[in-house]
Amino acid sequence: MEVINTVVELEEKVRAWKSKGDSIGLVPTMGYLHEGHMSLVTEAVTQNDHVIISIFVNPIQFGVNEDLDCYPRNMERDTQLCKDAGVDVIFFPSVEEMYPQGFSSFVDMSHVTETLCGSKRPGHFRGVCTVVMKLFNISGADNAYFGQKDAQQLAVIKRMTKDFNLSVNVVGLPIVREKDGLAMSSRNSYLSEEERTAALCLSTSLQEALKSVQQGDKKVDSLKQQIHQTIAKEPLARIDYIEIVNMETMQPIEQIETSALCAIAVYIGRTRLIDNIVLG
Ligand code: AMP
Repeated sequence: MEVINTVVELEEKVRAWKSKGDSIGLVPTMGYLHEGHMSLVTEAVTQNDHVIISIFVNPIQFGVNEDLDCYPRNMERDTQLCKDAGVDVIFFPSVEEMYPQGFSSFVDMSHVTETLCGSKRPGHFRGVCTVVMKLFNISGADNAYFGQKDAQQLAVIKRMTKDFNLSVNVVGLPIVREKDGLAMSSRNSYLSEEERTAALCLSTSLQEALKSVQQGDKKVDSLKQQIHQTIAKEPLARIDYIEIVNMETMQPIEQIETSALCAIAVYIGRTRLIDNIVLG
């Protein structure tokens, strides 16, 4: 396995693979890898001749008061995990390599980016789309792997791929959870022991909502209310949003028809966590 820091070197590698007709899988990440990331890597290794994982804490997708400066990093551990999993290349560029002096182009998307995290984190998806577009181009990936954990991100990337006629196949994979239900996230490392326990209110409230739907409650208002009540019982939790939306467009709905995405963002102390579940 190789760690590559520059675009030129990665492009050279990709050209050699492509000339043999080999397939390439890409797993974009911000590092501090956990089993959620590794589930994407495992799938990519199974489905492609070569796998590139990118590790890049993308500054342009963070807001001014967000956690860019303290985002967790452990390149040594990440490298070992990737080696063991059969990754061919870790693409680990610097900020200057991705956004050199004079960089001026951004991918801006409407509608699907205007709800949920898009409305709470202005500019976030502009940063995500821009870096993912660059990674798609640099890596020449045939397949790219994303987690349902960031359900809106997955919908946004699928939309972008369609809108720009990109030839990459976007693969979405299920959320990997801790045994007690907490969705795995690099940001879980910010939580104190007490906060870690409190954070269970996210997955618990979503499971309860699923049960209600299975018992026949299809009204979005009452389901949101139910989730709200469960989370509000937790003193360390502060709700950022609770929404139930169309799976593809991310627009709010009033009634669960076939399937819908229930997505929540909750601060546990100072840590903002997201989780979601498909209802119906
Ligand atoms: P991140 O490093 O947080 O930007 O995540 C990189 C990729 O891993 C994204 O496609 C995420 O959706 C995915 N991912 C993060 N956490 C999980 C998880 N618990 N289960 C599945 N995929 C995940």
